[in-house]
Amino acid sequence: MAKVFVTRKIPEQGTEMLKAKGYEVEVSQKDGVLTKEELIAALSGKQYDAVLCLLTDSIGKEIFDATPSTKIFSNFAVGFNNIDIVEAKARGIVVTNTPGVLTETVAEHTFALILAITSRIAEGDRFTREGKYDGWAPMMLLGTDISHKTLGILGAGRIGSRVAHHGKYGFDMNVIYYDVKRNEEIEQTTGAVYRDTPEAVLKEADVVSIHVPLLDSTKHLINKERLAMMKPSAYIVNTSRGPVIDEVALVEALRNNVIKGAALDVFENEPALAPGLAELSNVVITPHIASATEETRSKMSEMAAQAIIDALEGKNPVNLVS
Ligand code: NAD
Repeated sequence: MAKVFVTRKIPEQGTEMLKAKGYEVEVSQKDGVLTKEELIAALSGKQYDAVLCLLTDSIGKEIFDATPSTKIFSNFAVGFNNIDIVEAKARGIVVTNTPGVLTETVAEHTFALILAITSRIAEGDRFTREGKYDGWAPMMLLGTDISHKTLGILGAGRIGSRVAHHGKYGFDMNVIYYDVKRNEEIEQTTGAVYRDTPEAVLKEADVVSIHVPLLDSTKHLINKERLAMMKPSAYIVNTSRGPVIDEVALVEALRNNVIKGAALDVFENEPALAPGLAELSNVVITPHIASATEETRSKMSEMAAQAIIDALEGKNPVNLVS
């Protein structure tokens, strides 16, 4: 009987699929992220055939050494920067992710963040709850319109394209984008205009939304110099991965009004926030929940389980990254 280890409780659809196949499924009972040592201890000598892991698990040489029987690491996320893909490939270990099923949810959350920061939703909510609202006033908490403004997309893949769609069809925004690959589909469907450098997008956009994967080439894609290129009236929104922005530089830029505001779902050293970030009023922050709807997390659970079933049945999982 095949044995599967799941590193943390996930929606039960996936674990039920694995059990229905007759696999022995062990789910970590810790209500939290397993440390490297805990994960090694959980895997060592247990002969697991598959591991269903999360973006909070750092999977590399030591983990692979701890469980040489494991043929597949199925990552419950579309991003897979938490896994040493080069090492997995060298060892012939299959790695899969969960693309597509979370695109719409993440795009919705991205737009929720864009509206929250430009319409000062979180700030207004705090203000009202704190009893500071003492009547309508013409100059109170003035925000910024986004309709007909320019939306700049960095990384026009699945999620970036959907955000472009919402900008175009929800708010009549002009969309510009930068990607290492030109995306003709987004140009045809949203009228998005390609810019051949990230700088061109940063200089022109009123709202910049980041949707690149975390790679060596995208770490600190947004740094002090690039923040300084943005309009002082512009906003930056990040639902990709935290290290894509130099968060210390961002705090400094927000403090000095280099840009108008930021909305973030991901953080450079999460769950920690850069010093000073939480004290700024021109920031909206959510705790890495852009894909966190009941529907989407269930689909991610099923997709991650199906990849394991395919791999253990000798088929090629559709979402191979290694
Ligand atoms: P995708 O692969 O469809 O799109 C990524 C795009 O980025 C591609 O078009 C690619 O060509 C482009 N790209 C790669 N390197 C680049 C670079 N250096 N400069 C500019 N563009 C570059 O991926 P997706 O499904 O749209 O997901 C994007 C990312 O969003 C994921 O990698 C993941 O890290 C993140 N994500 C976050 C959450 C969350 O909960 N906050 C949820 C899902 C995905």
